This record gives sequence, C-alpha cells and structure tokens, in this order.
Amino acid sequence: MPDFDYDLFVIGAGSGGTRAARVAAAHGAKVAVAEEHRVGGTCVIRGCVPKKLLVYGAHFAEDLKDAKRFGWDVPDQCDFSWPTLRDNVFEEVDRINRAYTDTIQNAGGEIILQRATVSGPNELTLADGTTKTAKTILIAVGAHPAIPECPGHEHGITSNEAFHLDAVPKRVLIAGAGYIANEFAGIFHQLGAHVILMNRTKEILRGYELALRDRLLQISMMKGLEFRFDASFQAIEKSGDCFTVTMSGHEPAVVDLVMFATGRIPNTKGLGLDSAGVELDDKGAVKVDADNRSTCESIYAVGDVTNRIQLTPIAIREGQAFADTVFGGKPTRVDYDCVPSAVFSHPPIAQVGMTEAAARQKLGSVKVYSSDFRPMKNVLANRDERALYKMVCDGETDRVVGIHLIGPDAPEIIQAAAVAVKAGLTKAQFDQTVALHPTMAEELVLLK
Ligand code: NDP
Repeated sequence: MPDFDYDLFVIGAGSGGTRAARVAAAHGAKVAVAEEHRVGGTCVIRGCVPKKLLVYGAHFAEDLKDAKRFGWDVPDQCDFSWPTLRDNVFEEVDRINRAYTDTIQNAGGEIILQRATVSGPNELTLADGTTKTAKTILIAVGAHPAIPECPGHEHGITSNEAFHLDAVPKRVLIAGAGYIANEFAGIFHQLGAHVILMNRTKEILRGYELALRDRLLQISMMKGLEFRFDASFQAIEKSGDCFTVTMSGHEPAVVDLVMFATGRIPNTKGLGLDSAGVELDDKGAVKVDADNRSTCESIYAVGDVTNRIQLTPIAIREGQAFADTVFGGKPTRVDYDCVPSAVFSHPPIAQVGMTEAAARQKLGSVKVYSSDFRPMKNVLANRDERALYKMVCDGETDRVVGIHLIGPDAPEIIQAAAVAVKAGLTKAQFDQTVALHPTMAEELVLLK
C-alpha cells in the first residue's frame, strides 16, 4: 500500500465539499480541503444565502405600501439604504463562512486556502507549487456564471458582482429568464429599478409548470417589468455611465447595468483532470456514476461540477452519500426523485414532482386540480395579485405526482407538501386531511 499524505483531499469548500469533508473526517479519515476563494462556496458566499436576504429586504417595498391598509402610518416615500442592506448581508455571510470553517476544522479536517489542481490519480498541486498526495480525491469545485459571447460583454456583470454594487442602478437589463434572472429582476424592481429581462427564447423558467410561468409573467408585467423575447445580444456599448445594448428583433436599450444570468458552467477548466483520465461531458461537467465516482477510480465528484441538479441540498446529499459510502462503510445513493425546488421571484414559485405536460407524457392519463385565488392579505391590501396552485395526479391510481404553486410563501409550503408527494400519497389522502384555516396552504386539501 503506498503512503499518502491524506485519506481524502477535497477540492472546493462549498456545500458538497464541506459536507463530504466533515463526514469523512467523522468516519476517521485524514482530510484536507483546498479552497481558492472563501469557505462556504457559491450558496453561502455569492448565492442562495445573500440572495434570499436581498429578497427579504426587497419585499419590504411592497410590505410598507400594504402596511397603510392595515392601519399603519407609513410615509408615501420611505427611504431605503442599499449600503445598509448590502453590508448587513455581508456580515451574515461572514458569520456563516466562519461557521463552515469551524465545521471542517472541528471535525479534524485541514483547510488549505489555495487553489489546488489535480496532477495525477492520487496527486494534487497547490498554487504555491507544493504537491500533496491522497488516496481519494473529491472534486467539489462548483460552477461559474456563463457569459454570452458578444462585443462589449466585458461591460456586464453576473450575480457574483450583483451583491457588491455601490448603488441600486436605475435601469437594469438582465439577460436570461431562469432562476437567477427572475430572482434578481424581482429584487432590483422592488428596490426601485426599471428592469428589462431579455431572453433568447419566448420562455421564462423552462421546466416549471406552464400555468405558473404565465402567471409570473403576467404579474411581473403588471408591476412594470419589461420583457424582450427572442432576443440575442448584438453589442453592448459604454457611453459615459450607461450602456447601450443592441439586440436582435428589438430596439436598443439604454441601461445603467447589464447582468448576465444565462446558466452556469462547471469549474473544470485548468483543473488538471485530464492528467488523471477524468472524463468530462460536452458541457465540461465531470462524468460520474451513481456513486459519484469519475472515470478515474480514485477521483470522485459531487455538486454543480457534475451538472446533475444544480441545487445546494443535492450537493450536500451527494457529499454525504460519497463520504458514507467510501469512508463509512455505508453504501448510500442519492435519490433524485421528487426534488422540490423554488424560484424566489416576486411572488415566488415552488414545485415538486412532474409538470402536467411531463405527467401526460409519462403516465398518459392524468387528473389536474387547481385553485386560482387572491390571498387574504392581498385582498385587504388591495393588491390585485392572485395565487395559483396546481396538483397533478395519476389518472389511474389517484397518486399525487406533482404540486406547483405560485404565491406568497410558496417555497415554505412546498417543502411540507413534498413529503406527501415523495411518500406517494393520493389525492384522497390529501382530502382526508383537515384544512388549517385560514391559510393559503389549506387550498392543497380543498382542491376540486
Ligand atoms: P437557468 O438555467 O435557470 O436559466 C438560464 C437562462 O439563460 C434561461 O432563460 C436560458 O434560456 C438562458 N440561456 C441559457 N444559455 C444561454 C445562452 N448561451 N445565451 C443566452 N441565453 C441563454 O440558469 P441561471 O443562471 O438562472 O441559474 C443557474 C442554476 O443555478 C440554475 O439552473 C439552478 O440550478 C441554480 N439556482 C437555483 C436557485 C434556486 O434554487 N432558487 C437560484 C439561483 C440559481 P432558455 O431557457 O430560454 O433556453
């Protein structure tokens, strides 16, 4: 048996890498984790966590308007300080960064704050030139935002930089119409910007239930967001402090900020994976089997770098399964069925299971139930914004195979509903559950 410096060397201290490192160390492995940026990765440092805090901050714009109808004496024009929100969010990010660092170190893992690349099946090279060896290597390096090729693309930012802005721009053009585009469109709009969302196709949030996507589009347009579909960049030109964006099929747009939210690319470039025979797919993602093992026997990969489902809880589960399987003697595989997901747009969308179209294709016979209602709070607030809940059931067995919600707190509601869908409950079993009144979630047991 050759002697290695470590049992496990993890590259990347994000959600997947941190979980794998902690659990492997708890199983008795000698572990090191290399991180070139900050411990915590995309979710903690420049993703889910700071984004959700901005969503909360932005929501006050509507809440303060609505407060008057609930009897509160709120001035028509409330002051908002972006630097205060931004810096408080950074403080919270710093706190979680420290907690993640402690998690690894308290479990006995060593953190190496340097870029590490693979230089062989069991060898790594650090940025300072030193080499390390490990019996097992875990690639958990995540992904980075894609930037469309077009003249002037260097003038645009991505969600990475959006958290660091000096001020909220007056006019923003966001390219893309997926998760990040819709979430930041809501944030910027609520904070007072005019937002233009441009996408290469006619669709927003591809993969989500059509009726909900239409509802979000309709509500967003009602609020004043501008959509430009079937549009691709021709050029981005800077003149003074603003940018002129020319695009196919539309008039040029003059804005103060251009932000790209057009998907994320696995961070495999320059990682030396070819030196160990690790194969990548056509998108640059590490190809892995159901046990997260790459085409090199000693190298595994988890999280966004594998481009399976790019969600934090999935990366965490993959990291846990990897560590339990390889170091804990407990072979475990991640179950990718019925993964709930949400878009923290204004209002948010959340879903679990199959869309109506997917269920029709897979099952043939389906039954669909829906409720289109104005939440009680919106009624009193004179806010003409309706929620839409949709349940998709197997026409033969009555089993609920998909739930799709748009409306306040939809992500909070779907997490509980996902347990029932995952457990394979039927529509009749939902109906046997007594409604909790008055809530929005009660619609789920009252669907006709
Ligand atoms: P998405 O995949 O959600 O959306 C990408 C958008 O960009 C789509 O509208 C797509 O258009 C468009 N697009 C894709 N490629 C190009 C291109 N080459 N040129 C122009 N437009 C393009 O990606 P995001 O960047 O919004 O988010 C990345 C991932 O991060 C998500 O897939 C998700 O997994 C994760 N994420 C999850 C969040 C959450 O759980 N709430 C929040 C943020 C991110 P079209 O679909 O029309 O082809």
